[in-house]
Amino acid sequence: MSGIGHFAPGLAAKTAAPQIPLWVFLAAGETNDLLYFLFTSIRLEQKVETTMSFTEGVKYLSPVSNPWSHGFFMSVVWSVIAAALAFLFYRDRRSSLILGAVVFSHWILDFLMHSNLPLFFEGSPHIGLGLENSGAGFLFITVFDLVILAGGIFIFLRAKRQTKFTAKEIQ
Ligand SMILES: [Zn+2]
Repeated sequence: MSGIGHFAPGLAAKTAAPQIPLWVFLAAGETNDLLYFLFTSIRLEQKVETTMSFTEGVKYLSPVSNPWSHGFFMSVVWSVIAAALAFLFYRDRRSSLILGAVVFSHWILDFLMHSNLPLFFEGSPHIGLGLENSGAGFLFITVFDLVILAGGIFIFLRAKRQTKFTAKEIQ
């Protein structure tokens, strides 16, 4: 249910909302998976068991439906809640919207990878492009993950260097 590419949106977004700590952005990008661990531990959702290879892609050992952590509808709800919480803490509308968007970015990346994301709840249609379902697709999404992670790190470090420079120039 996860790839390291999920850290990329948070790294990039941090540069646009400096008052929110980096760890909040990194956690925000993994919200759906953090909820998945929480919900499987209280048995609201079932654990996903898979095998992975670049020849066959990802194979699910049993049918999976995790609407609370990974459904489209609940992902919108989690994003709105995250944005509302951020607004309570930081009192800044723009930063709060950016944080909400980072939470939702997880679902968008998962939409590319999986084909079993529930639209609403149990029994609703499953959606997703399902790149993981073939070996070539799985290889593509794995490389894509690494590329966007590198992009996120690059944007983050570049902004950090620039703020250092401007701080120096001001002194
Ligand atoms: Zn996920």
